[in-house]
Amino acid sequence: MHVAVLGAGTMGQGIAQVAAQAGHDVVVRDIESEYVADGIDEIESTLAAGVEREKVTPDAKSATLDRLSGTTDLETAVADANVVVEAVPEDVELKQETFTSIEDVTGSETLIASNTSALSLTEIASVLERPERAIGLHFFNPVHLMALVEIVVPEQATDETVEAAREFVEGIEKTPITVRDSPGFASSRLGVALGVEAIRMLETGVASPRDVDQAMTLGYNHPMGPIELTDIVGLDVRLDILEHLREELGERFKPPQLLKQKVRAGKLGRKTGEGFYVWEDGEIVGVSGETTNSVGAGQ
Ligand code: NAD
Repeated sequence: MHVAVLGAGTMGQGIAQVAAQAGHDVVVRDIESEYVADGIDEIESTLAAGVEREKVTPDAKSATLDRLSGTTDLETAVADANVVVEAVPEDVELKQETFTSIEDVTGSETLIASNTSALSLTEIASVLERPERAIGLHFFNPVHLMALVEIVVPEQATDETVEAAREFVEGIEKTPITVRDSPGFASSRLGVALGVEAIRMLETGVASPRDVDQAMTLGYNHPMGPIELTDIVGLDVRLDILEHLREELGERFKPPQLLKQKVRAGKLGRKTGEGFYVWEDGEIVGVSGETTNSVGAGQ
């Protein structure tokens, strides 16, 4: 198959890599040639790390790189593509413009997919002349390690489109789940629901961050607790998602005051060194003092 990936950033790199590893011819397109080159360099580094850890053979690495090329020219990227996956920044107008320009230069049977994490696929697809071949393929970061792809089905999609998406996802050795286009899809809606309840428990002094997290790691075998995960995702990112879900789905997603306060204070989690935990070199080294105070007797 010929696959085009639009956007050579974090997600575009990963999607291009796994598609090429699965044997597809892949063209990556970005707006500047240095972004394209950086993206391909990153893929090469990820594959090299895989060879070092004996997860990828040296032959598979070079075969993967042979199947990958890059361009800044949209038509070159998508003209022969069976599947186009856009991974451009999360902006509905940019995604719609991207979809329209893909449709202008690609075949009428091409599957046109978006890797949006939260936008409405139905709205993005509405700009197409043939919106029935649009689909959401929600990959997870880092793409080469994460098994799941959420197939997000817009109102306009046909059964054939969903089936083609499923075949593509299984063909690149990922596991698809199928979700009707709806706010937060399945993964964000459930993940954020758990996270928001965990923060409310801190707010009301039910338990400490470590104990809330261990309830899920040791009690439910989650690889990581909801508070730690919130710190890793970023408190600002979680707050944005909550505000969106509250608007769409109602008060059960109302952001807790504690989360808002932390974001205002610039305590955004691992990336700023403090969120609900204190972080150094990507590791938890303590519990945020502010959290400790607010939890009170629970600590
Ligand atoms: P990123 O900023 O790392 O990469 C985006 C790339 O798109 C940049 O290199 C940019 O130059 C390029 N770009 C901008 N306009 C373009 C255009 N018209 N054509 C081609 N390339 C263009 O962003 P990202 O983290 O890879 O996110 C991309 C998409 O994936 C977003 O919709 C995001 O919501 C979604 N997503 C991100 C994650 C994540 O963890 N980062 C996870 C799932 C989904």
